[in-house]
Amino acid sequence: MRGTAKCYDELRAYCETVSIVDCHDHSTTCGPAYEDPIQVVINGYFHSDIHSASSDADIAALQDNKRSVEDRWPILERAWQRSCYTGYAEVTRRVLKKFYGEEKLTLDALKRMQDKLLDLTDAAAFEAILDEAKIVGRVGDIWPDISKILDGTWEMTPRAYLAISLPSYHSIRSYEEVQQRVAPLGRRVTSLDEYLAACREIFEGQKTYGAVTFKDQSAYTRTLAYGNPTRAEAEAVFNWFMEDPRRAASYPDGVRPLDDYLFHAFMRMARDMDLPVQIHTGHMAGIRNEIAKTNAVGLTRLIELHRDVRFDLFHANWPYGGELLFLGKNYPNVTLDFCWANIIDPVYCQNLFKQALSSVPHGKIHGYGSDFGGSVDRAWAHADIARDNIAIALSDMVELDYLGLEEAREVAYAWLFGNANEFFRLGL
Ligand SMILES: [Zn+2]
Repeated sequence: MRGTAKCYDELRAYCETVSIVDCHDHSTTCGPAYEDPIQVVINGYFHSDIHSASSDADIAALQDNKRSVEDRWPILERAWQRSCYTGYAEVTRRVLKKFYGEEKLTLDALKRMQDKLLDLTDAAAFEAILDEAKIVGRVGDIWPDISKILDGTWEMTPRAYLAISLPSYHSIRSYEEVQQRVAPLGRRVTSLDEYLAACREIFEGQKTYGAVTFKDQSAYTRTLAYGNPTRAEAEAVFNWFMEDPRRAASYPDGVRPLDDYLFHAFMRMARDMDLPVQIHTGHMAGIRNEIAKTNAVGLTRLIELHRDVRFDLFHANWPYGGELLFLGKNYPNVTLDFCWANIIDPVYCQNLFKQALSSVPHGKIHGYGSDFGGSVDRAWAHADIARDNIAIALSDMVELDYLGLEEAREVAYAWLFGNANEFFRLGL
């Protein structure tokens, strides 16, 4: 991608020199060690576009690496021809070019790749690619072994800072789930009070370990429009399943008073612990999910109530850009996070970056988050695309005489590094 503004090349070159904070990553360990060139092509999120362009049977066949590359190639070729211009496809294209020297996806290219597949399980190789992308810090949403976090023996991947994962603590539906959540503390709980105290202890232990934020992606399975039920309503659900371990509260309505109540309780803990809360909004990984429940505008009441909690709203709320701009403009405790969005829809981001500049204080924008697990090769490609998007948006605004080139540089620095470094208090 290239911008058309006169200063594009100069601004893009500047963006290349700026370090990046990766606001959202899922790397539990370094990796992967690729075993299959087709895995290199469809790994990460691109398999969703391939799936959308083919069928359940085709995607299953492509992922069956016991079948030869030659055998699977006709299926891949057909799907690639129908999907090769999406942002996810662009990630694949850049990975093929950078790490394998391949300009085009062909059967011969796949065969050439076979002997030089990347092994990223080595921490030095992993970190060398972070260096190339100039990723200097990463917020890690990694679902670790909590016992190891609490006793300090868990090892983060290079440059990662822990995010405290919330969903499993408020979606509890049974006695068994409750005891599983608190097991790292080595005790059982029997009441809502004891459960809340245990959660606080687990979260505070994660902060002591080094956690820099909370993170919640419940929008995959429930609406973001949290109600504000009474404690009595929540406790009735909790007590009902606790008094008989064979019971489970029904999804979604049976569990909702407890789920909503706990989420508000956790927001108070975030306030007391002085940590921000990252929330998944908009588009979801995979295919065949329901989008309306994920619109960030559903969070309005939560944001208005918890004014001392800093909310970092994810994925540019794709495809609901207007609602996200409103929330960022209207609420001091909201920041806009473009993690993942830069590859879901590059042009949406270029346009939204421009609109954000003209409508939302630019100190409230976080420009990049890789959102892969491992796959640091893809994190590099994603960072490359995010730099393109920001440079295209800001150089277009310079062309409009909306701001000068020097000012555009300052904004690019803030969006790639400065804002997130300050917001998550990384001290980089
Ligand atoms: Zn994610």
